[in-house]
Amino acid sequence: MRLDKLLANVGIYGSRKDVKKILKKGKVMVNGARVKAGSIHVDPEVDEIDVNGELVTYREFIYLMLNKPPGYISATEDDIHETVIDLLAEPLQYSKPFPVGRLDKDTEGLLLLTNDGKLAHRLLSPKQGIEKEYYAKVRGVVDDKDVNSFQNGVLLDDGYMTKEAQLHILSQDEISEVKVTITEGKFHQVKRMFQAVGKEVVYLKRIRMGEIILDSSLSLGDYRELTNQEMAYCK
Ligand code: URA
Repeated sequence: MRLDKLLANVGIYGSRKDVKKILKKGKVMVNGARVKAGSIHVDPEVDEIDVNGELVTYREFIYLMLNKPPGYISATEDDIHETVIDLLAEPLQYSKPFPVGRLDKDTEGLLLLTNDGKLAHRLLSPKQGIEKEYYAKVRGVVDDKDVNSFQNGVLLDDGYMTKEAQLHILSQDEISEVKVTITEGKFHQVKRMFQAVGKEVVYLKRIRMGEIILDSSLSLGDYRELTNQEMAYCK
């Protein structure tokens, strides 16, 4: 890999342009020799690279868990709205992470961010049928009939019949509280499933994807790296 690309990907030296300046100043050593050309090729597994006298530890991929706040869209860029990538510290943005799947702008909760396309593909593949669990507040009294409907599949507005889904009632009132587990990821799926049974989701938060559970110590907008155990599940 080119030296300037590698240093930019590390995420703490800035963009490729910033890296060029650092190189020009003679701050970069490769295997003990000063290097000013970003175009040379290095192998991060083999070559020892120092910047300002500090050894560079290179990781090709980053894996983050974000507690998505409302108001942000699940995309890498947008002309109008802020994206979930804007929530990350700038150095991390240089690693070019993207969200694994989408949560609606007003939905909160668990969103994985990575620059590892293979992992994203695995987690999103319909064949894998990974469970996605949501906590929701729903206008109207959710009852056992709805539980059965979700179990048997409901007909969405576009004629799609959903796969079996688990609906667990936490409280029944004008605004009911529920947990919903689905294995698909159709557009606005949870909201449209409730719409199909005549009810409206007024609050939605994803709390789990497969074995990855939203870390309750993360405030809205906070994120952390996945643990080794979480990584082992994803791989
Ligand atoms: N279902 C929805 O309706 N919205 C989301 O953001 C996620 C699942």
